[in-house]
Amino acid sequence: MNLEKNKKSIFEQVHKACVAANRLEENVKVVAVTKHVDISTASALLDIGIKHLAENRVDKFLEKYEALKDRDVTWHLIGSLQRRKVKDVINHVDYFHALDSLNLAKEIQKRAAHPINCFLQVNISGEESKHGFSPDEVNLVLPQIAELDKIRLVGLMTIAPLDADSETIHNIFEQAAQLRQELQRQDRKNMPFTELSMGMSNDYEIAIQHGATFVRIGTSFFK
Ligand SMILES: *Cc1c(COP(=O)(O)O)cnc(C)c1O
Repeated sequence: MNLEKNKKSIFEQVHKACVAANRLEENVKVVAVTKHVDISTASALLDIGIKHLAENRVDKFLEKYEALKDRDVTWHLIGSLQRRKVKDVINHVDYFHALDSLNLAKEIQKRAAHPINCFLQVNISGEESKHGFSPDEVNLVLPQIAELDKIRLVGLMTIAPLDADSETIHNIFEQAAQLRQELQRQDRKNMPFTELSMGMSNDYEIAIQHGATFVRIGTSFFK
């Protein structure tokens, strides 16, 4: 594994995708997903200038966080969160990407010491195995989330199906982008909806084309 080389290659792809989409590179944050590597590898990523780290499980998040909390890191929790674990983790998280139910939002409201930056997870493809609100559910749930002052909805997060062809992936990311725009226009309190968390190792170039502001990349860093 050559972290430096992999990082360079990822940032080159991001650069190219931004140029092609006529977007500013500073508006696309590369989030390194460290779920398959140990603390020393995560630490090595920080040494080469990575600022955003993500984990999808609470135990692994806390392990990395405890070890590296004195470094300059923006912390992302990207996986589904069980309600009983909210209190252990939520106040250490800079961005939570997987808000997928009203009950979870209520639990965060109860446990958070300050407003938490959250992404609503949307399931555009309708895959049963995927978490997240359908686009229709989003509009129903927003008025209720609006009552919760510890939830700050910064944007939408979505995951394209693993086996989807490129046309389907384009479609899904474009729908997420349209929905985000619509929600931003609603201009609700505590719901800026400026961000789009989408794109993983296999599809981040496509995601950037459709306006992703956070790409979540694991495998490509560690191959
Ligand atoms: C693992 C994971 C990623 C990173 O996936 P890669 O294909 O390894 O880049 C991104 N988002 C979520 C939610 C994940 O669980």
